[in-house]
Amino acid sequence: MHVPSLIEKKRDGGKLTAEEIEALIEGFTDGEIPDYQMSAWAMAVFFRGMTATETKHLTDAMMNSGRVLKYPKDSPPKIDKHSTGGVGDKVSLVLAPLLACDDVWVPMISGRGLGITGGTLDKLESIPGFNVNLDEKRAIKQLEKIGLFMIGQTADICPADKKLYALRDVTGTVPSQPLIVASIMSKKLAENLDRLVLDVKYGSGAFMKTRKEAEQLAAAMTEVGEGMKVKMSHLLSPMNEPLGRAVGNALEVAECVEILQGGGPSDLVKLIVDLAEKVSTTPRSKLQQRLNDGSAWKKFVSLVYAQDGDATALEKMTSVHRAPVIQPLAAKKSGTIKKMDAEAIGRASVLLGGGRQKTGDSVDFAVGISGLKKIGEKVEPGEPLMSIHARNRVTLEQVTPLLEKAAGVA
Ligand code: URA
Repeated sequence: MHVPSLIEKKRDGGKLTAEEIEALIEGFTDGEIPDYQMSAWAMAVFFRGMTATETKHLTDAMMNSGRVLKYPKDSPPKIDKHSTGGVGDKVSLVLAPLLACDDVWVPMISGRGLGITGGTLDKLESIPGFNVNLDEKRAIKQLEKIGLFMIGQTADICPADKKLYALRDVTGTVPSQPLIVASIMSKKLAENLDRLVLDVKYGSGAFMKTRKEAEQLAAAMTEVGEGMKVKMSHLLSPMNEPLGRAVGNALEVAECVEILQGGGPSDLVKLIVDLAEKVSTTPRSKLQQRLNDGSAWKKFVSLVYAQDGDATALEKMTSVHRAPVIQPLAAKKSGTIKKMDAEAIGRASVLLGGGRQKTGDSVDFAVGISGLKKIGEKVEPGEPLMSIHARNRVTLEQVTPLLEKAAGVA
């Protein structure tokens, strides 16, 4: 294989064959193709795009760069959800145990926070002791026992994506649809699924800013998944205001506990049940009932115990991780909430320490924003629009102007 020729072929708008794509991915994963050649290739893809067939081959090659999960013969159907990420998006923590109440397996491999969007693994790790690093043997045993695991990507799942994503991150090639599709789908398909539901977000707090872009991404991911014999479904959901009323790791787990005990904010409950209905064969009323009758809650508690977590902490997450400074942000006038900007609130949460400013930063589980008013709700002067949970007065003062601007009352 002559790598410069493959780069030139893509640069000039040509189509790469399955063998050529495989050779590139294999060579890059093994370290034979240097970063500078792979970066040039990624930039060529950024400008020239890829056909649906090329995208499928790329996904396939990336998936096969590492291990694909194997299950015992005659095991139940394997199902999962992928969200393109949003602010306050804690859906997985409720949806996974809800789905696992059926005779299915939910082998959920999740990620950490990325930019302003939070990550399922960070939220789970705010539960004392919770272990997201299970090896495959233990993970499969857990599926046999409780039908569910929630873990991080192991070193041998999609190593090509790990390397390529790091390269894209520093070469301006993250926002390329075929590269996004292959990156997301290779990881999900390495779970060896039967069914997958996608939650593709659009709006200020999402990766895709418009519904049209989200629609195109959903269609491309669906095509790749179906090409690999996975039953695909999707929802497009807006992300202009945060999901639910809490943003921040422990605060979000506390909100999930509310939902798993039959309460919680209605926008979040609706999205969870909508997604569950798409991927499950159980009727909506029964799914809803499992949130109300404690079935999903019991499943979540068994998950926490199975992964070394202290489930007795779940009902007191806000005191286990209590921020030293908690300050309400009051409305200055009466009116209706017109805006609660997800992007600004996500940025504020990162500045408070709830997310990472750079890879490897640790996250502060206690900080964030709670009690967020929702668009359409009425407020009186002096009434809290939200409460800010900060580590100290310095970060509180840093985020207050940002959050004042994020909320619009008219
Ligand atoms: N999430 C991923 O895993 N990969 C991308 O390329 C974008 C979002």
